Amino acid sequence: MSLVRKHILKIDPYEAGKPIDEIKRQLGFKEVIKLASNENPLGPSPKALEAIRKNLKLINRYPDSQGFYLKRKLAKALNFEPANIVLGNGSDELIDILIKTFVEEDEHILTADFTFLEYKIISQVKARTVITVPLKYFKYDLEAIKRKVDKKTKLIFISNPNNPTGTYVTKYELEEFMRDLPETVLLVFDEAYNTFIDVNDFPNSLSYIRSKNVVVLRTFSKAYGLAGLRIGFAVARPEFTSYMEIARQPFNVNLLAQAAAIAALDDKKFLSKSRRVILEGKDYLYDNLTRLGLAYVPSVSNFILIDLARDGVEVFNKMLKFGVIVRDMKQYGLKNFIRVTIGTKKENERFIKVLRKVLRLADGETQDQFPTIKSKELRRGKR
Ligand SMILES: *Cc1c(COP(=O)(O)O)cnc(C)c1O
Repeated sequence: MSLVRKHILKIDPYEAGKPIDEIKRQLGFKEVIKLASNENPLGPSPKALEAIRKNLKLINRYPDSQGFYLKRKLAKALNFEPANIVLGNGSDELIDILIKTFVEEDEHILTADFTFLEYKIISQVKARTVITVPLKYFKYDLEAIKRKVDKKTKLIFISNPNNPTGTYVTKYELEEFMRDLPETVLLVFDEAYNTFIDVNDFPNSLSYIRSKNVVVLRTFSKAYGLAGLRIGFAVARPEFTSYMEIARQPFNVNLLAQAAAIAALDDKKFLSKSRRVILEGKDYLYDNLTRLGLAYVPSVSNFILIDLARDGVEVFNKMLKFGVIVRDMKQYGLKNFIRVTIGTKKENERFIKVLRKVLRLADGETQDQFPTIKSKELRRGKR
């Protein structure tokens, strides 16, 4: 008999994107590229690196428990007060803190079925019930989610844009959704990719904080290139943040992460370059996927969900053998798909070359099987 609590025994654990070193070790490759975890392909912000170097000698000290300077800087940049901000060891930790702070044992969490896996896994670890609602055209179906809201609903997680589909809910849809939503529900907008948005109807979620029960999550892991340091933040009214502060651990965000994040916020040049590389890479990948006859879900993010119309795990494994790490979607329940992070020009070219090889397509040839989603349909706005 196991000593482990019953609900823990039942959890299907999170599978992270494979680390570059692991593949190098296994296959003896020198040149491995990772396009699996939506990281910044340009590396960290140079200003952040400089700040880390300057602060290295201080790591015998505990970090600032209050994150004074970073909160002040974020508050100024976002037009809020430091009391509106909670720092986390990545936004992953903030998801954990949110559940700890707000969801009673018999209350429910609502989200989509194909979305960021951590909502479900962290809820399960805390023995909370998660109700998932199917996506519609690869997009959060806010109308269906609203129909599921009842007396037990406490938190609703909306990944916007959604990982792993790259789709988004519009300002109009969100405002329809929030209209007449019960006051007993807390809405969480997880905006890990907000810096890559290239559409005009994306909601300004921060503008709802003062009037609605809304928490916005953002991270330094993606556009700012600091995934390895683990730092993210939540923005909300003090009636929420003050209790999240109590529920978090006192030294949850390390000293180097705080210093790096402060510096990264000033590195506008790095941020705009990252955005440019991603948007250019996206065009390149769209073109080449279309040329291969593959359907994809149009993305407002730095990754693309691709329909292979065949087993995605097999393609994923074959690509590994050529030193290209992408993400299979088995754990997400999307068996025929892979998700690829947009990389540098060189990485994108290598990805397409290897994909072509793995799909056994000669130059100029497209795959014979018809893709199951028609990207044209999605592009016409049916998503
Ligand atoms: C990457 C990602 C995060 C995780 O961010 P961290 O700050 O690194 O924990 C959160 N939410 C979504 C939707 C993500 O894709």
